[in-house]
Formats: sequence, structure tokens, C-alpha cells
Amino acid sequence: MSNEMEQLRQQMDKVNLEILELINKRASINQEIGDLKTKQSIKRFDPVREREMLDKIKNNNSGPFQDSTLEHIFKEIFKASLELQEEDNSKALLVSRKKQAENTVVDLKGEQVGAGGISYVFGPCAVEGYEQVAAVAASVKEKGLKLLRGGAFKPRTSPYDFQGLGIEGLEILKKVADEYDLAVISEIVNPADLEKAVDYIDVVQIGARNMQNFELLKAAGDAGKPVLLKRGLSATIQEFINAAEYIMSRGNRNIMLCERGIRTYEKATRNTLDISAVPILKQETHLPVFVDVTHSTGRRDLLLPTAKAAIAVGADGVMAEVHPDPAVALSDSAQQMDIPTFDQFFKEIKDVENRLKK
Ligand code: PEP
Ligand code: MN
Repeated sequence: MSNEMEQLRQQMDKVNLEILELINKRASINQEIGDLKTKQSIKRFDPVREREMLDKIKNNNSGPFQDSTLEHIFKEIFKASLELQEEDNSKALLVSRKKQAENTVVDLKGEQVGAGGISYVFGPCAVEGYEQVAAVAASVKEKGLKLLRGGAFKPRTSPYDFQGLGIEGLEILKKVADEYDLAVISEIVNPADLEKAVDYIDVVQIGARNMQNFELLKAAGDAGKPVLLKRGLSATIQEFINAAEYIMSRGNRNIMLCERGIRTYEKATRNTLDISAVPILKQETHLPVFVDVTHSTGRRDLLLPTAKAAIAVGADGVMAEVHPDPAVALSDSAQQMDIPTFDQFFKEIKDVENRLKK
């Protein structure tokens, strides 16, 4: 090789190293800007600023590269810097496994939800009266269980259907919960009712129809009570996770997720139970995951097989509706279990749980 060529190559190597140093220096400055933006909650990507930088580069270009070539090269550098910031863990969602590797455990009057065992939530679709709730509570208690459900504010498809007893329903739940030493879960649909409701209930349920009611999610985050968040009728898993993030971003870490079926073209069941959502949610988040077998199937004959599937696939809990006399229930009469059916259901599901544990 000629001496001249050798010299040019050496120069080239030197320039490469200079570019390398400068490019990394640029990335460090970019990270500092990114940190400032995070503190001020400003978006990292700023197209106006990018345009300004590109114009300045082009205005100072004396060749031999063409402006368009330089624009292309610099845009790649901008993009790489932005991607570098996005790999940063500080951007991960609070509900994500990336942010917290260990499982969140929610303590409900001593029941450790998400700690490895299976939690069961049983109770009527709607609170209709003291006797009705107390009958189910007695049966729940007798099984050594801790969690009771019952709707006082019912989000019904038709405005002419039973809308729930409201605060009176919550009063009934509280009375029964105190008498039987149970923790109660009840849906709240209006942020304005939350403040009052937290005096009566142990868990605020946010129903499928309200999964993206962002003001309600924020209010539930502020209320500080444990929340059971149900998946929206047509919500993707990502939307579901983001809904949980709304709650956690307000400082409330006691969140439980509930897969309750999604709307598909299939008519054999009321909704389609998305069973694979359970392990996905367990991988992606650190929150306990329930499966509501009542609303996902809408069929009494499918409650047991789907509950088995839920436990086998790794759910932390199962929810199902129980009513002393489903035939006369004011809502969901076709799918609630009566007490003898409930007894049998529980016996069989406990069997499955114990077999899987071995
Ligand atoms: C409920 O659990 O009472 C209920 C109405 O369920 P969803 O919001 O999942 O339809
Ligand atoms: Mn119901």
C-alpha cells in the first residue's frame, strides 16, 4: 500500500473515533434533556425542535454532502437518541413486572389475595335485601371464605331494568359484612359516590362498562381503597393494563384485575372468556388476577369447567354469583347459582385446587 493511502486511512480512523466520541457525547446531553423533560412531564419527542436542529445543520452545510443526505443521517442519530431514552426503565408502567418483579399482595381483612393461594369472591349479582345477602353470606362463611360480593349500583343495559338499591344496598352489605366478619366488594359507577361508599365497603369494584371511565379510575386511585378492576367488554389487554395504571398513578397500589370475558361473534356464551389473558396479565403486571366465570359465560353449566380452567392457568382468584333463589333474582337470574349448587360447585373446585397444588 502506498504511503499516501496509509496516511489517509489513519486520518479516517481518527475521524471515525472523533465522530464516535461526539455521537456519544450528544447522547449524554440528550439523556440530561430527557431527565429534565420527565421532571416537567414534557413529551420527549419534539418535532419543532428537530426541525430547528435540521435547519441549522443544513444552513451550515458547506458540502460535499447534499442537504438531503445530511438530513437523513442526522434523523437517524435523533431517532437513536430517542430510543435510548425509551429503553430506560423509568418509562415502564407502575403496574408492570418490569417496574416491580414481585407479586402485589392485597390484604382484605386478613385474606392475602395474590400470595399464592386461590381467593374466591361469591355473592349475589345485586343486593336486593338484607335476608337475601345474609343467606349467601352465611354460606360463604360456612365454607371458611372471606370475600362477599353484591352490587348496589347496577350498570344495566336497559334504563328500565333494576338499577340497584344504591346507598341502602351498601348499608345492607356493611351490616352483613360486620355480622359475618367478611370483606365486601361492590361496584361504584359514579366518582361522586366514592367518598361515601368507602365507609361501607372493603373493595371498590370498577365494572366492565366503566373500565375506561378515566375520571372514575382517578377517583378510585385517590380514594385509597383496594380496587377490583374488571376488563372492558371490548378492551384489549393493553387498554386494561393502562386502566390499572390510571389507578396506580394516583398512589393506590392495591389493585386486582378481573378477566370477565370479551365481546366476540360467538353467541353460545354471553361473552367469550379470554383465558389466555390470565397468564399474559400475570407476566406483564405484578397484580393479582381474578376470573369472573358468571359474566364471562352467562351459563350455569359452564361455571365449574371455566373455574377449573382459571385455576389451572394461574389465576389468583375466581368470582361467581350466588343467589338464594335465582329464579326470582332482579338481575342475571339465568346464571346465578342457588345455595345447593354453590355447595357442590365449591366442593368440586376445592378438589381441583388441592389436586393442582400437589
Ligand atoms: C358485576 O360484576 O356485577 C358486573 C356487572 O360485571 P361486569 O362489569 O363485568 O359486567
Ligand atoms: Mn351479574
